[in-house]
Amino acid sequence: MKKKLSIVIPAYNEEKNIAHLIAELSKSISSTGYDYELIFINDGSRDNTLQAIQQQADIYPHVYYIELSKNFGKDYALKAGIDAANGDAIITMDADLQHPPHLLPELLKNWEEGFDIIYTYRAESNRHASAYQRFASKLFYKIVNTLSDIKLENGISDFRLMDKRVVDELKQINEYEIFFRGMVKWVGFKQKGIPYTPAERHTGEASYSFFRLFKLAVGGIMAFSVRPLYIATGLGLFFSFAAILYIPYVLISYFGDYDKVSGWASLIATVAFFGGLQLLVLGIIGSYLGKIFMQTKQRPTYIIRSTNLQK
Ligand code: UDP
Ligand code: MG
Repeated sequence: MKKKLSIVIPAYNEEKNIAHLIAELSKSISSTGYDYELIFINDGSRDNTLQAIQQQADIYPHVYYIELSKNFGKDYALKAGIDAANGDAIITMDADLQHPPHLLPELLKNWEEGFDIIYTYRAESNRHASAYQRFASKLFYKIVNTLSDIKLENGISDFRLMDKRVVDELKQINEYEIFFRGMVKWVGFKQKGIPYTPAERHTGEASYSFFRLFKLAVGGIMAFSVRPLYIATGLGLFFSFAAILYIPYVLISYFGDYDKVSGWASLIATVAFFGGLQLLVLGIIGSYLGKIFMQTKQRPTYIIRSTNLQK
């Protein structure tokens, strides 16, 4: 029996890219001789992405769509697609053609050779990114790697192939906060990274603003580590110790009659600094509490409005 590939593609405002992507994918896959299905997840697009997918689904029997009830974010759209996929290998990629379909044969070759996860990361020379984008991206991975327990390659992407075994494990993970790139690293298995050069976005706008990236970084760190809590504890210890060293100086000044009126500046500075520090540490602790709160509510990670997949 022919092996089947499930290609999972999250799409948010990508109406102009759908037809082109399907044409490109069909070209790359038909030569490989696998059976395949394309699962598009319409992540609450505000344009006609859904109609564009439905149009293609009417023409091609192997095109499926899942329409989410609102914009949940890429990682949640990916989860929805993976949950529905039943191929022997599951491939995730972007809808904007930045993930080159011509790499598919290489991913498949490594899969046939026995790797369970073949992921891709951006090659160093990324000529399509601006200096700011490159800097922001470097910083993102640096911070995530330093503060959490997983190691992500610089520029690791969501373009990857996973064996069915891996996906069966991913489906079991029932976390409210999803950071796919981290989760896929965390599950282990036999992994291999392949560098790639991203293409220019086919049409449309990238939807990740600085604020969204910041949220993603914080989410990635907090979903994979309690190290920030240790840092909070360390800071607390350090400053308590410093205060213990400072107290003798205060007492000597007081009884020795040296420093009675002055000292206002150091007092204010100390109060302000420790006030800020306490708020920071409380914030870190509060953020983890918030995550526990969200998790205990047991809300679904995504909601499907409609789909043409039979279950
Ligand atoms: N995407 C999504 N939901 C979102 C934002 C993005 O499903 O809320 C999809 C988008 O349609 C694309 C992929 O995620 O297929 C990557 O998004 P984008 O190109 O905006 O980001 P970048 O290329 O900068 O990583
Ligand atoms: Mg993109």
